[in-house]
Amino acid sequence: MSDDITSILKGWGEPAYRIKQVEDARRSGIRSWEDVTTLPKALREKLTEVVPLWSVTPEAVAESRDGTLKWRLRTNDGMAIESVLIKHARGRRTLCVSSQAGCALGCKFCATGAMGPGRDLTAREIADQAFLAADVAREADARVSNVVFMGMGEPLQNTEAVFGAIREMHSPDGLGISARQIAVSTAGWVPGIDELMNFDIPVRLALSLHAADDATRDQLMPINKRWPIANVLAQCRRYADRTGRRVFIEYLMLEGVNDSVADAKRLATILRDGRFHVNLIEYNATGGEYQGSSQERRRRFAEELESAGLYPSLRRSRGADIAAACGQLANTGV
Ligand code: SAH
Ligand code: SF4
Repeated sequence: MSDDITSILKGWGEPAYRIKQVEDARRSGIRSWEDVTTLPKALREKLTEVVPLWSVTPEAVAESRDGTLKWRLRTNDGMAIESVLIKHARGRRTLCVSSQAGCALGCKFCATGAMGPGRDLTAREIADQAFLAADVAREADARVSNVVFMGMGEPLQNTEAVFGAIREMHSPDGLGISARQIAVSTAGWVPGIDELMNFDIPVRLALSLHAADDATRDQLMPINKRWPIANVLAQCRRYADRTGRRVFIEYLMLEGVNDSVADAKRLATILRDGRFHVNLIEYNATGGEYQGSSQERRRRFAEELESAGLYPSLRRSRGADIAAACGQLANTGV
């Protein structure tokens, strides 16, 4: 449950079983204090004044053919955000959370980028996405085993809230998700990488690189003009050396843009020091000018990386039929 409710109840000297009652109410799908009838009326009224029972409310849900679920959620001030729960074998689920409503960074291939800036979500709004999903998973005898900050927004522009939410997801009193199973993905917000390497919970860092040269990356991701490839990779190397953790490189495969053999060679050269693991990602159509690379080109690209000693993972797109895949989160499709 969200920390602030717990600390408010404790601060008021309420007995521990009250916290349990609130947790049970949230789990059973109750959405407002009024309906938490296990609490005395006076306490419900007091709570109504200081803190909402939930910081986000599910508004719509869509299920994909592959079992992926996508929610549209509404914050208490009316912003629409989305989270996606991806189904794996043996009851495992990966939750993709949003960290902002919208995104100011304007990457050309991303539906969230096309929405423009919104606002930072609070720690509670981020953590509540996970609590809601955990309840749904539990009903299916499954559990949220992984969390990725790959929904809407740039998490490293909102580190305070993101770190607060991670604390709750990781805590045994929260969701007990292992640090290694939590990944923060960034478009390359360099000062945020610095903060992440000083964060005491050893989560994973993923860098959305998507190009091996500055001219191409400038075109795709405006942030590259501020922090070009060499700068952001230098920062990732510091992160890897300081934390002892490899950095994931996300590489979206765009036909004729960044997927030639020469691109693969360049990528292998700039990443050839063992600190990185490359994920080759399938492009999800967002109605823009780009096309995903053909299977043949993806295969050639992967082979080229392998011959240079980098062994990439090929990431399939999930939930594409309900616009739940990465980069498609822009409040459509539900
Ligand atoms: N802002 C952060 C995290 C959210 S985006 C970042 O950019 O890393 C999560 C991932 O989805 C990023 O790797 C992003 O590049 C990728 N993505 C964006 N649009 C996409 C699309 N249309 N198809 C596939 N992946 C996309
Ligand atoms: Fe923002 Fe990430 Fe989309 Fe770029 S890819 S616009 S940083 S959400």
